[in-house]
Amino acid sequence: MTATPLRLIVAAHQARDREWIVELLRLALADAPEFIAAPTGESALAHWRQDPQRPQVLIAAPVEDLEPDALIRHMLDPTGITGCPVVMITPGHGRESGPALLRAGAQDYIGESWLSPYVLARAVENAGVRWAAERELREARHLLQAIVDGAGALVFAKDLQGRYFLTNQAWRERLGFDDEQAVGVTDDAVFGPSVAPAVRESDRQVLATGERQVAEETFWRNGQRVTYLASKFPLADAGGRRWAVCGVATDVTSLKEAQAALEARERALQTLADNTPDILLRFDAALRHVFVSAAVQGLTGRAPREFLGRGIREAGLPVSLCELWEAALRMAFHEGRPQTVEFRFDSPAGPRHLTGRFVPEFDPAGRVEQVLAVLHDDTERQRAAEDLRRRARVMARLADASRLIHASLSAEEIARVLVEQARDILGTRQAVVDLAWGDEPLQVVSCDHETPPWGDGRSADGWPGGSPARGQLTVALTNPRGKPVGQVRLADRLDGEFDADAEAVLVQLAAIASTSLENARLYAALRLADQRKTEFIAILAHELRNPLAPIRNGLEILRRKAELRDSAARARDMMERQLGHLVRLVDDLLDVSRISRGKIQLQRSRVNLQAVIDSALEATQATLDAHRHELALEQPHTALWTVGDYTRLVQVMSNLFNNAAKYTPTGGRITVQLRQKGREARIRVSDNGAGIPGSMLPHIFELFTQVRETLPQAQGGLGIGLSLVRQLVQLHGGRIEAHSDGLGLGSRFTLYLPLDDGGATAPADELAEAVLPGADTSSAGPAVASVLR
Ligand code: ADP
Repeated sequence: MTATPLRLIVAAHQARDREWIVELLRLALADAPEFIAAPTGESALAHWRQDPQRPQVLIAAPVEDLEPDALIRHMLDPTGITGCPVVMITPGHGRESGPALLRAGAQDYIGESWLSPYVLARAVENAGVRWAAERELREARHLLQAIVDGAGALVFAKDLQGRYFLTNQAWRERLGFDDEQAVGVTDDAVFGPSVAPAVRESDRQVLATGERQVAEETFWRNGQRVTYLASKFPLADAGGRRWAVCGVATDVTSLKEAQAALEARERALQTLADNTPDILLRFDAALRHVFVSAAVQGLTGRAPREFLGRGIREAGLPVSLCELWEAALRMAFHEGRPQTVEFRFDSPAGPRHLTGRFVPEFDPAGRVEQVLAVLHDDTERQRAAEDLRRRARVMARLADASRLIHASLSAEEIARVLVEQARDILGTRQAVVDLAWGDEPLQVVSCDHETPPWGDGRSADGWPGGSPARGQLTVALTNPRGKPVGQVRLADRLDGEFDADAEAVLVQLAAIASTSLENARLYAALRLADQRKTEFIAILAHELRNPLAPIRNGLEILRRKAELRDSAARARDMMERQLGHLVRLVDDLLDVSRISRGKIQLQRSRVNLQAVIDSALEATQATLDAHRHELALEQPHTALWTVGDYTRLVQVMSNLFNNAAKYTPTGGRITVQLRQKGREARIRVSDNGAGIPGSMLPHIFELFTQVRETLPQAQGGLGIGLSLVRQLVQLHGGRIEAHSDGLGLGSRFTLYLPLDDGGATAPADELAEAVLPGADTSSAGPAVASVLR
């Protein structure tokens, strides 16, 4: 490829001048260039524009249409350089206008008078070289500016007076200056008077030391605190003189904010970690401690730094604990799930119980990066729970002891139970109860096998057999008026000294025992009174009965006297009735006292129960007649036998019939039913009379019990009969029950007596029921039903 030949555009108004210049150049230039002659400025410019990329030089003598500087201006590009090298030919020597043309952009000029082939050729060559150098310089500068402007950082340079002579676009934009304002401005205007002195001082140091300095500059801009990190260095000329400070600054405001926030968070976390009673540990994947909170010192007596960077085994923990933790840590690392372990730790302050939770911490990729361990000291909670359980156990045992003591009826028994329970619950070797009871002082002692047996002599402090080996605890027993009646003493506790809890338990036991002692005293007094009363009733009954026999004989004599007048006869009948009533009452009283003293004797024989019922009905016939009651009697075909006292059984039945007659209004209905029920005979006496209120049913068999609502019908009764009935039935090995649906709804007394085995072969219940169809006593059946009016 042959190089494009240089084109020389020769501009001159005169044709002669153009030809002359061409001629001179032809003579001087070795390579033959292409010549273009242009008579006007515009035509020269048109030629240049035809191919601006081509190597060409404009040699311009004066033309008519354009002044020389205007011609040059038309050729300048945006960087201030002409589109091609320009040599101006000036009138005369050219000194007057030449330098101005150089400033306007021409590369050289030649005065007309100096024109020669050599000068012209040299000017053309020089212009080419200079033009190329200028262009290169401009381009380099342009590149530099582009780099400086393109950098995100702020770039600046200041002269020795602190005036900015170079700034980049970022600097100007951030600090709010336009291109022109930025030149020559100082730090007073840029940062304000409060920050500027510090900036100037750092500039001074850079210039003085010649060393690069990195400094943070913080100032307010548009109401916001901003921080720049500036790296500054001096610029020196070839002689080494420092003539400027250059710097590159980056906005680190958000970085600083983030860092401050991070530091604040770290501080908060540290405060939290240092002040929580839990111990916080963090382990890396090699199971080394990477964080240890201050609380570790409280447990181990060792500072956190003694653990940091060390593995569990290097930290000097017990091997069993290391194994437990390692297993939990491995699981947390491998499974990515929290693990919980409980363990004991022998701290310098004693054994502690801890719960450790090992929690995995994940990196952004979801891998377990570290494991955080939170160790919580559970000792106090466990202790409290154990305490609670122990107290509950003591309470339960106190409740048992209370039951046992309350069930004791004598002082001796209470003292014995108290001494054993107190020793047992509080775990002592020795226990003694002293009581001032009755005439004799009473002492009950309990001790374990290891304690030497009590000697005969008493020690100085009142302990039988010697003074106690270890501390003792004494609590008084008092009566309801607060007077001491004795004391309970414990000594030699198996697991240490007596504490407030032990005292509270003993006080409680003593209080229970005190109440029971009072009850025992009342019970004894009551029993004595009861005994005296029974004896009194026995004597009274005897005294009452003695005159009755002669009176009855007298009446008999009177009855035999036929001529007794009507009114006297009525009086005698009345006396006989009253006497009979009196005899019954006194007999009942005698029986009651006999039974309660255990002095009743049954005349046992084989007894037919039908015969008993018949006898009793006969005895109460008069009463039944008087009340005009309808009586229904049901009994089985075969006789039912029991072993008992015939007279007493008749007495039982008579009592029930009498009551049924008494407590049923005239014209009532009374049903008597005898049946076999398994191995027992069941006798039922039902009426449709006054009934018994439900509240009275449980008490109806107690001595002297009467129902207030039906008292007018008692006809002088004393509430003895049913009590006697029950006791007699029980003496026969039987039982009796009362039933009523309530007042006015009738009553039903059911008694059961054991059947005698040697009796008639008893038919089964079912058979008996079949023979006696239904319970309807009015229906005609094989049962004997007698109706009496
Ligand atoms: P009393 O001599 O007072 O009748 P009891 O011991 O025989 O004494 O009877 C006790 C109480 O039971 C009676 O006072 C009466 O209130 C009640 N009672 C006994 N039998 C009957 C009955 N069949 N109907 C209603 N109340 C009865």
